[in-house]
Amino acid sequence: MSMATAPDVIARVALDVPLRRLFDYLLGQGTAAPVPGARVRVPFGRRRLVGVVMELATGSTLPDERLKPIAEVLDAVPVLAADLLDLMRWASDYYHHPIGEVIASALPKALRGGASPVVLHTLWRPTGPGREALSRGELARTRSQRALLELLIRHDPIRQSALAALLPNWRPAAAALLKRGWAVHESVPDVESAAPARTLPVPGPPAGPDLTPEQAQAVNAIGAALGGFSTFLLHGLTGSGKTEVYLQVIRQVLAQGRRALVLVPEIGLTPQLVRRFEQRLDAPLAVLHSALSDGERLTAWRAAAAGRARIVIGTRSAVFAPVPDLGVIIVDEEHDPSLKQHEGGFHYSARDLALVRAQRAQAPVVLGSATPSLETLQNVASGRYRRLYLPRRSGQAVAPRLALVDLRANAVSAGLATPVVQAIERHLAAEGQVLVFLNRRGYAPTLLCTACGWVAPCRDCDARLTVHQRSGRLRCHHCGADFPLPKTCPQCGFALRPVGQGTERVEERLGELFPGTPIVRVDRDVVRGRDDLDTAMHSIESGAARILVGTQMITKGHDFRNMTLVIVLNADQGLFSSDFRAAERLAQTIVQVAGRAGRGSRAGEVLIQTAYPEHPLLQTLLAEGYEGFARTALAEREAASWPPFSRLAVVRASATSAAGALEFLTEARRLAGSPRAVRLLGPVPAAMARRAGRFHSQLLLESPDRAALQRLLGGWLERIAALPAARRVRWALDVDPIDLF
Ligand code: ADP
Ligand code: ZN
Ligand code: ZN
Repeated sequence: MSMATAPDVIARVALDVPLRRLFDYLLGQGTAAPVPGARVRVPFGRRRLVGVVMELATGSTLPDERLKPIAEVLDAVPVLAADLLDLMRWASDYYHHPIGEVIASALPKALRGGASPVVLHTLWRPTGPGREALSRGELARTRSQRALLELLIRHDPIRQSALAALLPNWRPAAAALLKRGWAVHESVPDVESAAPARTLPVPGPPAGPDLTPEQAQAVNAIGAALGGFSTFLLHGLTGSGKTEVYLQVIRQVLAQGRRALVLVPEIGLTPQLVRRFEQRLDAPLAVLHSALSDGERLTAWRAAAAGRARIVIGTRSAVFAPVPDLGVIIVDEEHDPSLKQHEGGFHYSARDLALVRAQRAQAPVVLGSATPSLETLQNVASGRYRRLYLPRRSGQAVAPRLALVDLRANAVSAGLATPVVQAIERHLAAEGQVLVFLNRRGYAPTLLCTACGWVAPCRDCDARLTVHQRSGRLRCHHCGADFPLPKTCPQCGFALRPVGQGTERVEERLGELFPGTPIVRVDRDVVRGRDDLDTAMHSIESGAARILVGTQMITKGHDFRNMTLVIVLNADQGLFSSDFRAAERLAQTIVQVAGRAGRGSRAGEVLIQTAYPEHPLLQTLLAEGYEGFARTALAEREAASWPPFSRLAVVRASATSAAGALEFLTEARRLAGSPRAVRLLGPVPAAMARRAGRFHSQLLLESPDRAALQRLLGGWLERIAALPAARRVRWALDVDPIDLF
């Protein structure tokens, strides 16, 4: 029972539960008040959860008898520094996602479980009774225990690692001393592994090539902006020297005693890139990506949090990594869709959050790309971002020649038009290498019965099963369903025929056309990990392989100096999509893949196969390049008031019945009423409505005014969440969605 005189201190705690609120807990008797950002262990229902204290208050809306005390305060020093806590709060507000889940998605699992945020080590010391026992000679017959106790007294206290070094077989003796109460041990923060918030500037020569005038100008412009917030677009093709600019900017940041955060798309974070940063900057680096084990992630996070790492480089969730004294944020390949989190419930753009973070840290952001997103280009046009352009470096060959190959006007065999086959022949004869890009893995996207017309369908998706010939399987690329390849039609018993092309079939066909020419294929079926990718890429770099066939995986990284011909096998998938961003994606892909050609001293050639050579997108891209395309596309977006000329949010829902998700979204729409300045579109079934046995629908919200959209979302989501129908569906909000399908 609490006395009325002194008000109780209440900690308001964020917990990893899908509820849009904080939870109030009482401070236990005699417990020091935890600081915001510290973790606490609290009772929650029948469980105990680790949460983060967001704020302290003197009163609660809950009646006293329902308030439970905090079970344990885990941190004396906040595990989330104020700047990160602030960023997470901002993200929770803007993306309308529960703060507890935002924090949970940003903290390593070990920390969510209560592990220490700093490296600990164990200290051993003798106890009073231990000293007495030794002086009484009680340990005469147990030599190892005596030796250990003598050591503890001599070095009181001693680190476990030092102990182990002095007395190799110390463990049994230590256990015995502990049991008898003659020694104790405790975990303490490892001060040596902590770095002061500011360390001395890094030494070392700026080893690296002499910058081109454009590179030097970029480095100077960004360098002059250090210490304040501003945004730069570093626009240059792959190989134009963007990374060189990043390295020089980071050098300046480190020299000021500050740190750098570098965000890259998953596919761009190669061991080569990390090695280049390590070699050129000679400063400790922490790497964060999705393939780390929990232990590795904790280690990297701790190094970042303690400031030991001077550079943190990682994929999208690294935008939430702790970086004391942040001096610059670099977002490489800023247009890349993988910088947007689109799985799970918490959808965020790491690029956009990088800007928010940099603004608070008063640091510049550098967005790098060969094919900037239309949003970013519009921000350049409106003067909000400053564009720094890197032309091709001299010594590099001229831009590759792009040409279209009309699939209707030419003979096509196994997906390869005759002029394409001839071009491959020509380039191989001239000792060049060839890249064939096709964004579809497997052997063929369809298995067809030529007698009755049966097509192998996925049972659980509105999709066909893909033929994987070599492994003899039929697979669904949407839900993962996997079956043996049938020999005959299950409906009529007649023979079956694979229709269409995947990378596996293209590889097979090229093998028939060019026997004896080494070919490597790169897609998710053959490349399982980074090592596989490395091996494949190396075989191209070394010249061992002459033809590279692959999916999106081959569009980035690695310098293929001898790649003289690039083929884009199927451009048409991107031409007629319901997604307003499909054209932008296609143009980016073509330019990125084309960038692989002619990077050495030889001019490159790029051939794009299409059944629609007169399509305006392809025509503009060919005639005016990516920038010309972007101008046209932005004008179209403006006319249709799509982003960046409007703001979008989408509520996606799925249910086990066809009607379930639509009903829920219809009710949600009704709850929104007729909001000012926000248009509601739908609900409509998704383009592929049935996926993995669930029926998907979406409700789109569009507004010319970000604030109006945000105002609506706030109260509305709580009311949707309270709908009875909400319990029968899975649903999530996506603010600034990057794909609508
Ligand atoms: P990007 O990041 O734009 O793809 P990089 O910075 O990786 O480009 O540069 C591509 C290659 O060119 C690298 O091998 C790099 O060392 C080299 N390079 C970059 N700038 C220069 C320069 N000014 N002089 C000579 N070589 C350079
Ligand atoms: Zn049949
Ligand atoms: Zn499926």
